[in-house]
Amino acid sequence: MDHKRRSVVRALMKVVGPKSAENYEKAIYDMCSRVAEKDEVECDAVYASLSYEKVGQFVASRSREEREAVFADIRGDVCGWKSAIYKPQYENKMRLLKRSREKPKAVKGDRKCKAKGCDSDEFYVWSQQTRSGDEGMTHYFQCAKCGKRGREK
Ligand SMILES: [Zn+2]
Repeated sequence: MDHKRRSVVRALMKVVGPKSAENYEKAIYDMCSRVAEKDEVECDAVYASLSYEKVGQFVASRSREEREAVFADIRGDVCGWKSAIYKPQYENKMRLLKRSREKPKAVKGDRKCKAKGCDSDEFYVWSQQTRSGDEGMTHYFQCAKCGKRGREK
């Protein structure tokens, strides 16, 4: 076993004990071989980054369940941002991403669009704190029909 693999075993020993450390390292090495084969790259290069990612995830695990989730990821070749240990963060990111993709609802009001040839009374409206803070909010609107934008304080 080369020194890189031995140093991973040593790092794992502190987290999972000497008995499991070699098994876990073997699983990580096998995962790296599979990933390397799939991506047609050198196993060494994959191992250099992924082994430490997985060791880091074992270190960050706060419970037996989390350690088992890391181990399940290793067996399933899951790495990076999609690893089970980042699930709450990943879901939160996806939620934010989804929300940012949703179009705001257009609202009808007593305002009429001033664009030529447009008589729409439906607007997307949103507000933003002005940079200086003490000036309060600036309100923006955009015509739902022609897209003309405007703002008012
Ligand atoms: Zn308009």
